[in-house]
Amino acid sequence: MKCLIPVKRVIDFNVKVRVKSDGTGVETDQVKMSMNPFDEVALEEAVRLKEKVIVKEIIAISIGVSSAQETCRVALARGADRAILIETNVETNEMPPLSIAKILKYFVLQEKPDLVILGKQAIDDDCNQTGQMLAALLGWAQGTNASGLNVNASTGSVEVIREVDGGLETLSLKLPAVVSVDLRLNEPRYISLPNIMKAKSKPLQIIPMGDLKIELKQHLKTIQVEPPVMRRSGIKVNNAKELVDKLRNEAKVL
Ligand code: AMP
Repeated sequence: MKCLIPVKRVIDFNVKVRVKSDGTGVETDQVKMSMNPFDEVALEEAVRLKEKVIVKEIIAISIGVSSAQETCRVALARGADRAILIETNVETNEMPPLSIAKILKYFVLQEKPDLVILGKQAIDDDCNQTGQMLAALLGWAQGTNASGLNVNASTGSVEVIREVDGGLETLSLKLPAVVSVDLRLNEPRYISLPNIMKAKSKPLQIIPMGDLKIELKQHLKTIQVEPPVMRRSGIKVNNAKELVDKLRNEAKVL
């Protein structure tokens, strides 16, 4: 079986995001970037399937500016066999999920994977759309927000366990399929030094976006980005009576 794992370069989840003063987006200059954490989980799952000899080849794919090569190298160090970077001139936040899904579809048709495993959402845009759109464009089965995954290569199916209100839902999908994953699916392992070294000699194909001849429309326009309203500092009251008084007469919530 062949797995395709889309991996996005995003601002590291530990970084305190700063909004640009002109409100056009967030600062990315001199900011630590990393692989989207949901994509790390997707890749770890593919590596585990490879260790169980269910998956034979793992291909990581990223769409982004030249520095996303680093994300591809991390994917190779995490266990992908090869990686593809579709190099764009613009940060991918300016590309809506439908454009990303159309580019991924192009490579799915070329690489013919049995399973595409991607993150349920990118932590920068929080769209939670790319997987669903890709499955729809391909006409493939989809299982979203997977917190459990069992592949049965002999029956050509995959079982996806999802956390829903009130319990767990289990879906059986016919392969080929698109699965988006939740953080609870697994805990990605640390990257070992030998694997970082090995990743340097694994194949990384860089394809300029212009070579794909895919027509993409700009469906979305970001009008304004604003930081959240600063929380006012709290005060200490001396007793419950004073608290009730403030809630009633100052906050007027009682
Ligand atoms: P989103 O729909 O933007 O929340 O993203 C969902 C998932 O789509 C991510 O977790 C990635 O697996 C994939 N994805 C989104 N954008 C990209 C990108 N520029 N390059 C590679 N994969 C992406």
